[in-house]
Amino acid sequence: MIRSRHIFVLFAGVMAIAPWVFSESLVTISNYAGLFCLVSIGLVLLTGVGGMTSFGQAAFVGVGAYTSAYLTTVSQWSPWLTLFVGVGIAVLIALVLGALTLKLAGHYLPLSTMAWGLSLYYLAGNLQFLGGHSGISGVPSLVFFNIHIDSGRNFTYFVWISVGIAIWLASNLLSSREGRAIRCLKGGRTMASAMGVNVPLVKLKVFVLSAVLAAISGWMYVHFQRFVNPTPFGLNYGIEYLFMTVLGGAGFLPGAVLGASIITILREVLVDYLPALFGQSGNYETIVLAVLIIFLLHRAPEGLWPRLLNVLKVQAQPDFSHIVANEGVALVRKKVHPSKGELLLELEHVSKKFGGLSAVNDVSFGVRSGEILGLIGPNGAGKSTTFNLASGVNWASSGKVIFLGQDITQCDSHQVAALGMSRTFQHVQLLPQLTALENVAIGAYLRCDAGYLQSMLHLERAQEAQIMSEAMRMLQRVGLQRFAHTLAGNLSLGDQRILEIARALCSEPVLLLLDEPAAGLRLKEKQDLANLLGHLREEGLGVLLVEHDMDFVMGLVDRIVVMEFGEKIAEGSPHDIQNNPLVLDAYLGSDES
Ligand code: ADP
Ligand code: MG
Repeated sequence: MIRSRHIFVLFAGVMAIAPWVFSESLVTISNYAGLFCLVSIGLVLLTGVGGMTSFGQAAFVGVGAYTSAYLTTVSQWSPWLTLFVGVGIAVLIALVLGALTLKLAGHYLPLSTMAWGLSLYYLAGNLQFLGGHSGISGVPSLVFFNIHIDSGRNFTYFVWISVGIAIWLASNLLSSREGRAIRCLKGGRTMASAMGVNVPLVKLKVFVLSAVLAAISGWMYVHFQRFVNPTPFGLNYGIEYLFMTVLGGAGFLPGAVLGASIITILREVLVDYLPALFGQSGNYETIVLAVLIIFLLHRAPEGLWPRLLNVLKVQAQPDFSHIVANEGVALVRKKVHPSKGELLLELEHVSKKFGGLSAVNDVSFGVRSGEILGLIGPNGAGKSTTFNLASGVNWASSGKVIFLGQDITQCDSHQVAALGMSRTFQHVQLLPQLTALENVAIGAYLRCDAGYLQSMLHLERAQEAQIMSEAMRMLQRVGLQRFAHTLAGNLSLGDQRILEIARALCSEPVLLLLDEPAAGLRLKEKQDLANLLGHLREEGLGVLLVEHDMDFVMGLVDRIVVMEFGEKIAEGSPHDIQNNPLVLDAYLGSDES
């Protein structure tokens, strides 16, 4: 079976002999493709995987290029020193831009990167010390251990080896703990937060990383080109980088190579032939290129790389078949061990208003360790909102939430998770393109600590193996181990719900919040779930359970809180609740009508 790495080796082989068989102009084209590819790798991480759009990558390329051009010509600094200065400035700018916009949802990042993309171009064009629109010339070429990287051929090796390293680092990152967090950014932010991921911080780190790659590309560019002017760093180039990435397949690192190569070659061909075709000069290539890209994306909306994988029947999924569940892995264990019956969570007169609507009104109750508390009530009663208030997804308009003695009323979801609360969602939040095992591993985020550098260099292998083995143990615990290597998106809805429980358990919580876990389960599966929850209770876990299925709730829970129209209308044992006229009237009555 062909695997991605076979294609990688083949490509590396071709690139190793390419400079000797390619014509001079083809070598130059491949050099530019390599430079663009570096930027595009950053965009795969940022846009394809992380779901954030930046139009400003060309400007970060410009920062790397201009910094080095200026410091090596005017101040005579070594290019190897200016690399760090250029990257440092790009990091600073990305930090400022990111800090201003990444906390906000919506279009703020694309818009601010557009402004940034425009501003560098005009700034460089107008600053006299940067040479204005004519730029800076006389930039030295690079010397690497006595090898002069001044010929196209030498530069090919330099840039494509760099691309290879960048892809290796980025793919290591994506298959690590932090990489799984990055994958959550697109469509799973609430979930990621509930698993302990500091979402704004992860967004910022990915944005900075993409800026670093762009600045390195700019630095290489300027020492290859030997001069610099503002043109290649304008907004239109920022857009073109996005095009490359999307065309190649935004979610895939090799897509960056594919997209950058295709666009560079196409542009070159079009520039050569179009003026002859039209009989006059003009920037026709931009128009034709745009039309071609739209056509290609229409045929392959996910980009060309996944298409190619399909055609060649390449096995691109990582292989976890060797993973076995292990007892006693050396991951961080629970910090607090509440004794049975200890009060874990306390809601004190919490209310939540959405505009004029009072979704939760003056609700108080507590959950103890070693008990299952059922939260029931008709649709729209405010149960999910109560969950969100308890777990930091929403903040209470008034009242207090106490967890393990700490006031968490205004804590973020990831902080609450760090204290030992974990949850599932009424509308399942899984990463459908990852296997069940990898999804469960997201739950272990806080139980290990490998950072970006460690992950990129793949120094966290041992820890990663433990995470996977622990995730497998959780799958076994909930009875889903047979689906460990199945994509989460291919599981039945019932199994997806159970998978969410496995993920929540993987964080070793002391309190588990389950929002309608039995919805969509068959009778046998409900019994299995009830057994599992019973076991967890035995182990001293506290469980807060929102459920619709009365039979399921009544036979399982220790106490019940009933909500209606945002208010608590009753609290007591299942027996009391079943005989409470208020509940029969308000809840069961309305259920039958
Ligand atoms: P339940 O889970 O008991 O079915 P919810 O807590 O989901 O009820 O909803 C309670 C009420 O709050 C409903 O009327 C719902 O429409 C409203 N609501 C929930 N979330 C929001 C929100 N983010 N913005 C506005 N209204 C909301
Ligand atoms: Mg709900």
